Amino acid sequence: MNWYEIDNHIKANLMNYILSIDQGTTSSRTILIDAGGKPVGKAQKEFNQYFPKPSWVEHNPEEIWKSQLETISKVLSDTKISPKDISAVGITNQRETVVAFDSKTGKPIYNAIVWQCRRTVNKCEELKLKYKSIIKEKTGLEIDAYFSGPKMEWIIENVKEAKELIKEKRLRFGTIDSWLIWNLTGKKEFYTDPSNASRTMLYNIKENKYDDKLMSLFQIEEWMLPKVLKSNGEFGYTDPDLFGTSIPIRAVLGDQQAALFGNACFNTGDVKVTYGTGGFLLINIGDKFKLVDNLITTIAWSIDNSPTYAIEGSTFISGAIIQWLRDGLGIIKDASETESLAISLDSNEGVYLVPALSGLGAPYWDGNARGIIIGLTRGTTKAHIVRAALESMAYQIADLVVPVKELLTKESFIKADGGATKNNFLLQFQADLLNMNIVRSSQAEATAIGVGYLTGLSTGIWKSKEDIQKLWKTNELFLPRKNRLEEYKKWKEAVKRSFRWN
Ligand code: ADP
Repeated sequence: MNWYEIDNHIKANLMNYILSIDQGTTSSRTILIDAGGKPVGKAQKEFNQYFPKPSWVEHNPEEIWKSQLETISKVLSDTKISPKDISAVGITNQRETVVAFDSKTGKPIYNAIVWQCRRTVNKCEELKLKYKSIIKEKTGLEIDAYFSGPKMEWIIENVKEAKELIKEKRLRFGTIDSWLIWNLTGKKEFYTDPSNASRTMLYNIKENKYDDKLMSLFQIEEWMLPKVLKSNGEFGYTDPDLFGTSIPIRAVLGDQQAALFGNACFNTGDVKVTYGTGGFLLINIGDKFKLVDNLITTIAWSIDNSPTYAIEGSTFISGAIIQWLRDGLGIIKDASETESLAISLDSNEGVYLVPALSGLGAPYWDGNARGIIIGLTRGTTKAHIVRAALESMAYQIADLVVPVKELLTKESFIKADGGATKNNFLLQFQADLLNMNIVRSSQAEATAIGVGYLTGLSTGIWKSKEDIQKLWKTNELFLPRKNRLEEYKKWKEAVKRSFRWN
């Protein structure tokens, strides 16, 4: 190294922390990552969930912002790392959730309508009759209340202030990433990235732009929406009043896409499954757009404006069914009890639970399906219900993987992350069911780490995806041990019985 290089090297190492913001559905988290890709500080804060009607879910956007800011301050004060030593900020976020605000005052005009909210189910059923194939062709999505466009239209039709603000061109609709960018930059910048835009049902993922026809279908005009930059774009600088210095925002990814990146699934055919509140399968399919029946195609990331696509299957209730056993039924005190209860039985003895508590997402897309427990006998105990709940988390993932197995590279194994992967029974059962190897990711925070990796790639801390690949570590491998085809057939029968109940 010459003196010039040494000087640059020292400078780079002085400013080599990344602040990774992870705005989730139930909590806001912040992680500080060092140049070795290691988290050196973490903070998390829950915020309120609002359920104004059955199946409606809202958040208060100001609470989201406040809780996020608190976690950033806490990480900085706990680690005593100066904001001046942070090279850049990355943002990952709960997707599809919509915030409507007034661009003049910066104030929300309504609560955020959350991805889980089902208020637009009827409208979506109507749209399916006419627009199913057009929307799939352009956006890669199935029509469902899950996505942002129908939520935005609901606000225009039902919130009085919205129509008034439209007259003055002051209404803005943002997903959570753009709401955070807006606030972090002192209400100056309003941007999003393609991984988030591709969830709005307004974005043409082949042409990489908002689609006029789709916008008009939901009464949206482009000036209402955040501008779409590449995922490793320049999203502005944090307001100096916040942290005493301006830090560039250099990466944005939706949470599931960030987890794909965080699991180093960079090659076509790489696959990850997240078992969190919901269950999510993402398969990297490279740079060629492709459609698969009943699953969705989405932009994984767009680095330097060249998009990588993913096939995604999302199920609304995964670990949430364990929460329901705890809080709704009260048959367990803690999720950690479920593993020993499940293995106390040699088999499910014919008991199946279909966790369609808020309808069924992929591959069934039945908003009116409802949960069932079937196969009960006098011998049924809580162990059976618990086992059926855990098995259901694996069956739902199998329903997503089986139809697309040919998209996976031959030697590919599934990388699994999310809170429920602590459960060995679940991962072993999944390996048996799919006859595939499952590897538990050692990266408990794959989402925050994922966007942190992309931020580091943007700012040059890491030079290439290969550098990042080296940072990814496996934890434990689950090999298939038992044939579960008979059980899987029975599950298929059970799931049919939950359809169109509501
Ligand atoms: P999210 O990021 O969606 O909030 P997490 O990845 O933190 O979710 O995972 C939390 C979910 O994992 C909860 O729904 C919880 O019920 C489930 N969970 C946690 N521990 C276990 C366990 N040992 N067995 C099964 N499920 C678990």
